Amino acid sequence: MLHSNLGINEQGHLTVGGVDAVSLAERYGTPLYVLDEDVIRAKCRTYVYAMQECFGAEATPLYASKALCFKGIYPIVASEGLAVDVVSPGEIYTALAAGFPAEQMFFHGSNKTDADIRYGIESGVGIFVVDNLNELAALDRIAGELGCRQPVMLRLTVGLDPHTLAAITTGKVDSQFGVPIDTGQAEEFVLAALKCEHVRIDGFHSHVGSQVFESDSFMKQIEILIRFAADMRAKYHYTATAINIGGGFAVRYVESDPEIDIAARIAEISVHLRDACEEYNYPLPVIYMEPGRSIVADAGVTLYTTGGVKEVNGYRNYITIDGGMADNPRFALYGAKYTVLNASRISEPAEYECTVAGRACESGDRIAEDVKIARPERGDVIAVLSTGAYNYSMASNYNRLPRPATVIVSGGQDRLAVRRESFEDLIRNEL
Ligand SMILES: *Cc1c(COP(=O)(O)O)cnc(C)c1O
Repeated sequence: MLHSNLGINEQGHLTVGGVDAVSLAERYGTPLYVLDEDVIRAKCRTYVYAMQECFGAEATPLYASKALCFKGIYPIVASEGLAVDVVSPGEIYTALAAGFPAEQMFFHGSNKTDADIRYGIESGVGIFVVDNLNELAALDRIAGELGCRQPVMLRLTVGLDPHTLAAITTGKVDSQFGVPIDTGQAEEFVLAALKCEHVRIDGFHSHVGSQVFESDSFMKQIEILIRFAADMRAKYHYTATAINIGGGFAVRYVESDPEIDIAARIAEISVHLRDACEEYNYPLPVIYMEPGRSIVADAGVTLYTTGGVKEVNGYRNYITIDGGMADNPRFALYGAKYTVLNASRISEPAEYECTVAGRACESGDRIAEDVKIARPERGDVIAVLSTGAYNYSMASNYNRLPRPATVIVSGGQDRLAVRRESFEDLIRNEL
């Protein structure tokens, strides 16, 4: 099995965190997002322990909310000692509604409106990660109006290509996120921020991309950031006390993806950090990381009911499912790969080659192409693995499909965390 929380029971059914997937599908309906809380907690602990050990006691992982945002995630990450990254007022609102403390929030986003900025400050968000000069000026003005001095980090681009999918690369000089170091604009950004009366710079942020397998880019990134920080210190007597190196550790979607040892990666990065601090004679900063995908992806399984097989003679076999791009647009967006199982027949040989087609009226509505599973009958439960990240958070109502429910499993028990949308929900705001 791709993940160690998955198993097989006596009925030949897939189990997730010890709970029968077929029984979950029967009790809660499909499509159904299933999340294993114990897996999420284990990932949180890996980050907290490794970061504190390697970077020092103040180092903190921030859970990147955009990977999976709903009220139920916040008490879990909070109790494991994580802060959070939020990218919109909607995410702030959700986290606040779940009782997450505003001062533990880092507010991202490449185009925060004046209303967003005001909402963030009035909510008491701890740190704004400022994307650009326009935002800096607006933040300084609005913080002034509200009579406060807002702590910020400045988002910089370090000019690295981490060789991931183009749609989720963010660290290259040519990027819509942050301000590049290479062009000299980052220096102007720092100077401008130092002049702002209502802004206090705590440090620098950079995020190179997502689903990054290479360790190289993280090492180079930290070196570039420390060199830049040392340069700012020499020129302007400003010492950044915190560095946020973003998220992006890759997860395994299919067997052929390499497994990333998060603790070992963090240890490697910390060696480069210490070397760089020594080389540039720079005091060791507080380090933040922002993992999203690597906290929640493995914990998620989506369950569907299949309508059966459709064999187009001489071409390919399709199996149809009662969800698809509306609940998981990642194949349609960037050809993402997934591991698919027939949860109803997990002990039968997985020899039936097929393409998993969603129910929306689009040829692009697929979840996986040319995968092998046990040949399904109409009514079998199909499981798609590693769907904890960027599935529910990217879901839509395309074709007027209600968004699925989310069930959390933990310690062999299950509980409903997000109700399935109803037809009334679909028309709720329509006059
Ligand atoms: C998306 C994003 C993250 C999280 O990335 P993952 O690949 O999910 O770990 C962290 N920081 C920023 C700024 C992001 O945009």
